[in-house]
Amino acid sequence: MHQNGFTTAILHSDRTQAVEHGAVHKPMHPSSEYAYEDARELAAVFQGKAGFTYARQGTPTTTALEAKITRMEGGKNSVSFATGMAALAGIFNTLLRRGDHLISSQYIFGNTNSLLGTLTDLGVEVTTVDATDVEQVRAALRPETRMVFTETIANPGTQIADLQGIGELCRERGLVYVVDNTLTSPWLFQPRVVGASLVMNSLSKYIAGHGHALGGAVTDTGLYDWADYRNIYEAYRKGPSTGWGLTQVKKKGLRDMGGTLAAEPAHRIAIGAETLALRMDRHCSNALALARFLNGHAGVAKVHYPGLPGHPQHERAATLFGGRFGGLLGVELAEGIDCFDFLNRLRIVLMATHLGDTRSLALPAAHTIYYEMGPERRKQMGIADSLIRVSVGIEDEADLLHDFDQALQGCMR
Ligand SMILES: *Cc1c(COP(=O)(O)O)cnc(C)c1O
Repeated sequence: MHQNGFTTAILHSDRTQAVEHGAVHKPMHPSSEYAYEDARELAAVFQGKAGFTYARQGTPTTTALEAKITRMEGGKNSVSFATGMAALAGIFNTLLRRGDHLISSQYIFGNTNSLLGTLTDLGVEVTTVDATDVEQVRAALRPETRMVFTETIANPGTQIADLQGIGELCRERGLVYVVDNTLTSPWLFQPRVVGASLVMNSLSKYIAGHGHALGGAVTDTGLYDWADYRNIYEAYRKGPSTGWGLTQVKKKGLRDMGGTLAAEPAHRIAIGAETLALRMDRHCSNALALARFLNGHAGVAKVHYPGLPGHPQHERAATLFGGRFGGLLGVELAEGIDCFDFLNRLRIVLMATHLGDTRSLALPAAHTIYYEMGPERRKQMGIADSLIRVSVGIEDEADLLHDFDQALQGCMR
């Protein structure tokens, strides 16, 4: 039977449900509460029947977005959150307990690194390892290890975790495998393929793409059987055991902790998601062209980009991500070029944090997003003081190359 492709499926996702008045977009539902004709029906929804009660636990708008994310990830079910960080907190805070051990890649988003510090203070043991090598993960295993966490392409060093090897290890040991897919997006990579249990996406980045809505999502791949996972509360041990983990993430993360995505940003994200595949291909081709150009430039000492043959995990990235390498570059400037002077000379590229926007963005990583963690941890993550993080946008390729060239030439004069 014919199966619709990635973009067709997102574009027509709302219409597969009954949409009021034949609207092409699922209308936005900002209502806080949902009323029922029959009090028994209200009680049934509280007791687990599908439906809506209070918007902190979801609305028809977030449900419509979650259906799209699930389809993109090839998963079983998704829960949306107010931000990517709320989604990560929703996973860690609801599935781990005091005394549990979490193994995380050492190459992770700075705020996630900070969140792991909070978890440590709450009594969860955290070990960070070089996840580009599964043997490092294996060496960190303990009897109390419950979960392994990694990103796909790390930011800003662009290290690629041994996603396949870690997946096999987790399956062998019955560990929950959580993959932050933000930098690849489900268009380049579906972590389900390497055995991930839960997939997290920051919807604020490539999936929305337009830089005017924040959101996050957790997708259940259905591959982990939670029957033997001791931290699932009795109340959520209902129905097929492969779904228990996400039920707990939703109940605790949305209902109890309140990290809920509002209807309005959910609607904006859903519209952005329609063009993910088109934008992502352009981000990738622009980034590859820029990486190649800068790699031979006199003003540049080193370019970190998985699409360059000299990248330590180039082959792995080529195999896992279908020959596309993402939109993020790390650029170390040549000695004598001041990173602030360079950035100030850019005309098209915006000096701003954030990534995955249609516009190209750049910032001095060590002095901004990785400032708080200090020089030692930065060194462990491979973040040099002169490292510029570039989120390559969808501008015309020649304009981007020209902008970097004129800024570098200006600094070298
Ligand atoms: C941005 C980002 C997050 C957090 O997402 P927000 O939506 O900004 O909270 C998490 N992980 C990675 C890899 C990110 O780039």
